[in-house]
Amino acid sequence: MPSSLATKNRAQSVTEDGAARPTLLLAWYDRHRRRLPWRLPPGEAADPYRVWLSEIMLQQTGVKTVGPYFEKFLARWRDVEALGRASLDDVLRMWAGLGYYSRARNLHACAVVVRRDHGGVFPDTEEGLRSLPGIGPYTAAAIAAIAFGCRTMPVDGNIERVVSRLFAVEQPLPQAKPLIQKLAATLLGDTRAGDGKSRAGDSAQALMDLGASICTPKKPACALCPLNDDCVARARGDQEIFPRKAPKKTGTLRRGAAFVITRGDELLVRTRPEKGLLGGMTEVPTSDWLTAQDDKAALKQAPALKGVARWHRQAGVVTHVFTHFPLELVVHTASVPARARAPEGMRWVPIATLRDEALPNVMRKVIAHGLGL
Ligand code: SF4
Repeated sequence: MPSSLATKNRAQSVTEDGAARPTLLLAWYDRHRRRLPWRLPPGEAADPYRVWLSEIMLQQTGVKTVGPYFEKFLARWRDVEALGRASLDDVLRMWAGLGYYSRARNLHACAVVVRRDHGGVFPDTEEGLRSLPGIGPYTAAAIAAIAFGCRTMPVDGNIERVVSRLFAVEQPLPQAKPLIQKLAATLLGDTRAGDGKSRAGDSAQALMDLGASICTPKKPACALCPLNDDCVARARGDQEIFPRKAPKKTGTLRRGAAFVITRGDELLVRTRPEKGLLGGMTEVPTSDWLTAQDDKAALKQAPALKGVARWHRQAGVVTHVFTHFPLELVVHTASVPARARAPEGMRWVPIATLRDEALPNVMRKVIAHGLGL
């Protein structure tokens, strides 16, 4: 038999026999699940607050980075009631450094709604969860499955990769999402023998773990995979081409200037508007960020401060990549005499207490560059 035909037949036979996958997957999870701060030991009922908090933090951020933030939040606000009573400023401050700050605002808004409208108890259906701020279809499915055992499969990037390889999904993302969702649902396990509880959450977490530790983007460790006998991409030997992706659009570079102004051991800062990019976060004054910004025009937008004899342009630029565009900031520094007043809408903060400010990563870079830290 020609080898291409043999491969095709092999691919067909493995797709026909997928009945054992959910059981194999759960058996693997029971032995190899990752120990994560938000996961309770096997058999213990999941706490919806921990599941929700971790899922919001894990949107766009990796497990390693989220771990310490999760512990910090849990130590400060032990349940959703406590978080719902906190101020948005405190939540933003605790979130600083984790990025994508609209998540922090939604986290707070959601806690307020759960406390005010739901008696401090999360709704236990996907639909109910989706009505809350910051909870989209994926997060609702994840919380419903993990915290409440609903028979639903949340599909994140890891699961997309595993499923698209397992079934060799040729359609590119994002168009393939509904198909992958449907195929992923075939991997949901049954109820647990003994207590009859749904294991949907474990099936989802098993796939997440498999994608994170074995079915990795490059060089998947197929020899260790519980589904390796039944994986079309492995049978064909072309695992790394999945998931297929439509060509990426990259944002256009924006440029601007940032002004690092000191008064003794204090720094001039302001708070960004509540709505929009980095809403409510602290920043040093900057010019507009424009695609066609030139350095002279940007410098003209420096804050009007008495006592600035001249601006010092720091060598190099600070670069940062946001979801939709990359940014390049030229940093200008100046120092002003003691008692110089902050322009309207700005304030002086001691450099020593900057860590208590809700500073986004781009501003940490700018300040470090400007102060030579
Ligand atoms: S066999 Fe390999 S490619 Fe297929 S799901 Fe397992 S790790 Fe991924």
